[in-house]
Amino acid sequence: MVRLIFLGPPGAGKGTQAQTVAQLYHIPHISTGDILRSAVAEKTELGLKAQTYMEAGELVPDQLILDLVEARLNQADTKTGWILDGFPRTVDQATFLESLLAGLQQTCDYVVNFEVPDEVLVSRLLGRGRTDDTEEVIRNRLEVYHEQTAPLIGFYQERKQLVSVDGDQPIELINQQLSNLTQQKP
Ligand code: AMP
Repeated sequence: MVRLIFLGPPGAGKGTQAQTVAQLYHIPHISTGDILRSAVAEKTELGLKAQTYMEAGELVPDQLILDLVEARLNQADTKTGWILDGFPRTVDQATFLESLLAGLQQTCDYVVNFEVPDEVLVSRLLGRGRTDDTEEVIRNRLEVYHEQTAPLIGFYQERKQLVSVDGDQPIELINQQLSNLTQQKP
């Protein structure tokens, strides 16, 4: 049983690592970005509301995300643990998550902060070729990260939950560090 939050800028490798760790522990990998992309593809009400923000590299309004995460964390498969990837992204989202988890009588074991220099992120994201990965949108997503999401580093440091990982290393090394971390869970 492990509950993790993966924090970090776009292109830091959170999704790749989350997939591996989720398989290892048989727990759901909850990526708000993936959920939103499926909603856009399926043209659901949520997808239609979220699409323009995503295409511009802006954050989708908090209320849409909070409803989505609340519904997801109330599903039965989350009882054995979870990895949140790409949520929370604002201090308001983090505060909401704290009270949501308190209500579920759950606590997050670690918040893993993936550290990668901006220049590395830009070249990684340009190589990824997703529709929201044009250079202009990438620069905006990084700016949004520094303004709205990076304050969460201090938020979780104060709560003594933050663990930083150097995300500019080979995938296997990072994976090793994450499995060491989760095995020595408090
Ligand atoms: P990601 O795949 O995590 O990079 O997310 C892709 C896009 O979905 C982001 O650029 C945002 O527009 C939106 N998104 C994903 N997660 C969130 C979130 N927690 N809060 C607001 N917007 C989000």
